[in-house]
Amino acid sequence: MTIGPIPVHCISQEYWYISRVRCECGGKLDTRLQFVTVGTPAVDVIDTSCQRCGKELRFEFDIGRFYPGDLTMDTKMVRLLERIDEERLADKLRELWSQAGTPPMDRVVAYIRGLSEEHDAFALEYLQACIAHFAKESAQRSSATGTIE
Ligand SMILES: [Zn+2]
Repeated sequence: MTIGPIPVHCISQEYWYISRVRCECGGKLDTRLQFVTVGTPAVDVIDTSCQRCGKELRFEFDIGRFYPGDLTMDTKMVRLLERIDEERLADKLRELWSQAGTPPMDRVVAYIRGLSEEHDAFALEYLQACIAHFAKESAQRSSATGTIE
């Protein structure tokens, strides 16, 4: 069975999502395999299996928000011009990914973690209020337009 594609903002969000899903039998999921399919959008595929009954579940995540935008074309060019093998292509993809930098959501989470490490409870409380405010606004907007998410 396949779930997705689910739009995400960073890789951590993918693992966070999977950690909250349980198998039909109630078992937790183990991550088995992860690979990226380059396309529009780029999709990160993660195969899991249930710790209890072994049932397999595939997750697909739409990573277009933070995956390098020109990657599809670049991959084609690399294949065509250099005729490199799969291993070198994987290296090239890793290099492109690292050039794309840290996704914004990862930077936000790192910033919040920094506040926590500095014991700045006041700042964390402020951010919590901001998130609660925008979550409420977003929910009101959804119900106003009749969108079900
Ligand atoms: Zn199970």
